[in-house]
Amino acid sequence: MPGNEATSQIKDKLDIVDFLRNYLTLLPAGRNFKAICPFHREKTPSFMVSPERQSWHCFGACNTGGDIFTFLMRYENIEFFEALKILAERTGIELRRIDPVIAKQFGALYDIHVTAKNFYRGELAKNDAVLNYALGRGLTEETLEVFELGFAPMGRDALTVFLLNQGFHINDIERSGLSVRGDRGGFYDRFRGRLVFPFYDHLGKVVGFTGRILPAYDDSLAGSGQAPSTGSGQAGIIAKYINSPETPIFRKSRLLYGFDKAKPAIRETKAAFLVEGQMDCLLAFQDGVKNVIATSGTALTEDHLMFLRRYAETVFLCFDRDEAGGNAIERAIDLAGAYDFEARVVVLPGGAKDPAEYVNSNPGKLSQVIQGAVPAMDFYFSRYLSTVADKKNIRVVLAKIRSLKSAIDRARAVKALSEYTQISERDLLEEFDRADISGRNQAVDLSLKESQTSSSFKERRSLIAESLIRLAIQKNDFRITEEAREYLPEFYQKILDALTTDKTTPDLQKAIELLTLQSGFVLVHSGEDLLRELKFEYLISEKQNLAENIRKLDRNGDVRELNAALRKFAVLSQEIHNLKR
Ligand code: ZN
Repeated sequence: MPGNEATSQIKDKLDIVDFLRNYLTLLPAGRNFKAICPFHREKTPSFMVSPERQSWHCFGACNTGGDIFTFLMRYENIEFFEALKILAERTGIELRRIDPVIAKQFGALYDIHVTAKNFYRGELAKNDAVLNYALGRGLTEETLEVFELGFAPMGRDALTVFLLNQGFHINDIERSGLSVRGDRGGFYDRFRGRLVFPFYDHLGKVVGFTGRILPAYDDSLAGSGQAPSTGSGQAGIIAKYINSPETPIFRKSRLLYGFDKAKPAIRETKAAFLVEGQMDCLLAFQDGVKNVIATSGTALTEDHLMFLRRYAETVFLCFDRDEAGGNAIERAIDLAGAYDFEARVVVLPGGAKDPAEYVNSNPGKLSQVIQGAVPAMDFYFSRYLSTVADKKNIRVVLAKIRSLKSAIDRARAVKALSEYTQISERDLLEEFDRADISGRNQAVDLSLKESQTSSSFKERRSLIAESLIRLAIQKNDFRITEEAREYLPEFYQKILDALTTDKTTPDLQKAIELLTLQSGFVLVHSGEDLLRELKFEYLISEKQNLAENIRKLDRNGDVRELNAALRKFAVLSQEIHNLKR
């Protein structure tokens, strides 16, 4: 790992037990210490600290661990380099003694993003048509200024050339994700013909961008390198919004758009107004709702909520008024419940599709509408019971009630449900005991969280596997998939066999046809990126299995086996750690 010298100096000076006492109440547990895990909700401590190894590990729902650095990164939601700076300051180690290689690599990424942001802003200032488009969408000049919106011009490599001329190295530019290496080795800009929204980390540094396609460029892009390469000339397949890829300084699953601006208001009101996209976020902010944040191009994650929970107690949800938005709200409510938020759902009056549309036609009213947000349970009543209040749907709602943390809330919800359905409370309570049979899989509660996490990892692995196979089909080159083979879920290994040997079965054939069809779509990742991500997901799931095994061995296993498993665990953790760098 780069930065070794500084990190080991810091670790020599700073004892992990002393350090963690600043954040946690540590209780002695033999040669170790234990604490209530700060990263998930629990009643009995499963967060262990080892003074000997100077490491921590949560053997509960998190299944994760590390050293002082990973603790601070996770706790403060910051990247390695930031943690290094903070700890260096605290231990009096001078910053310039930080490994110049790592300082340069991270520094370059931050610098590239600031430079790119300024470039995009300059382009916006020059381009009246785009400026008018932004203003036409209801954004004010002040908002454009505060959130530093920009414009990525159409040229193939306008930004890339600009960055090179500013003295940045092409490797760093590529690592920033703002330039993409084309098939023939040249580079082109990731964002072209788009209105660009800088994405800030919570310290206010630009770490990525989101680009919204501009109507004027929709067609011309369809004929360029960003279009599907099937040659069928289908327009409109280009994503309306694209994001910077994951980089060492940009992780979408951990960052919330707008948080750096909303933080004071969230802290003050102990509430956050959560929306789906940049436009919603900006227009709400502009309309006086200063505690607004957006998930932006990614589903709400546990990391998002874990971080937000330190500032807010209530989360107001307002997503698009469509099936996808409804599903996203349901997921958000269940996750928020698991992190002990009070979740309320904002229903926009007058059939407005999203907050942006509402603000544009009803300026100055959004705060009032948020005041009238309904409790999560009311949302479930209307979602599941307003059209068909049959047994199945009532059981789904009962399962949601069952997963409420507080008995008082549960009693109130049953009463409300009784009023809503005109079924007596007594009958509902009788059904209540059976609700878990049909509704369990819909409700997230803490006991289920662990298995859900591992299944979502599996799902992600499958998604990456599919992207890799599509890439191989598209390029008619299976070298990358061979390299990835050992990390692929079994089903995809079989697909690979079928693709390369012509031995196939009907269900494999069906999957292959689908993947072949999809291989016409534009691919945003390089094969190496996908391989790296696949390996990462694979190691994470291996690590989870191992942690489970360790818990079992710890309870009733052989000490030698336990030690062997712990050693393997350390190796796996290191591999994952290395992969992240
Ligand atoms: Zn934990």
